[in-house]
This record gives sequence, structure tokens and C-alpha cells, in this order.
Amino acid sequence: MAMLPNFKEISELIKKGLTIEAQEKFMELREGAVKLQEENLSLREQVRELESQLAIRGKVVWAEPYYWLEEDGKRDGPYCQKCYDCDIKLIRLQRGIRGVWNCRACNSGFTDGEFKR
Ligand SMILES: [Zn+2]
Repeated sequence: MAMLPNFKEISELIKKGLTIEAQEKFMELREGAVKLQEENLSLREQVRELESQLAIRGKVVWAEPYYWLEEDGKRDGPYCQKCYDCDIKLIRLQRGIRGVWNCRACNSGFTDGEFKR
């Protein structure tokens, strides 16, 4: 982002009677403020997203071949390894037959200890 005009610059222009130039600088300043507000909003959203990912990360437990969410001694899941490792998304696996688990988001298949050919 380009440097914003400062107040000293603008007041110097006004002192010299260059009010149109000063107005232009004010406009630049206003546009800059709007851009900063937008950037701030987007950064706040990113922080919120990262905070929630971080909170989840503390509860995610790896138990090959999938992930579980553990909270207050309770286990929820299992969740897809690929979706979590690649996109930090918890996608619940769907139970197939004979120890096969499937992810409906990425179509990965997992087999656990109950798997029989
Ligand atoms: Zn998946």
C-alpha cells in the first residue's frame, strides 16, 4: 500500500493557499482509510479462523488410520486424515462394511483393525 499523505503535508498546502491540492490529499487520505478498514476486517477474519483452527488442533488426536476429536474424555469421530492434513477440515468418515471408512468430501477410503478382505 502506498504511503498516505500526512497532516503536515496537507496543512502546508492550505497555508500556501493550495486548497484544491489539499482537497486531493484529503481524498487520498480518505481512500487510504477505507482500504485500511477493509484490510483490518479481513485480517480480523483470518485471526478468528486461525484461532478456531488452533482450538481444534489441541483436541485432535491421531489414531492410525484416522483422527478423533477428544474433549472432556469423550471421543468423537473418526475424521478423515487427508482432509485434516491438507485443508485443516474435520470431515466425519462414513462407516462402510468390515472396517472400511469412507470420506464423502475427498473420496478417500481407510481401513482399520477390523478390516477383512
Ligand atoms: Zn477426506
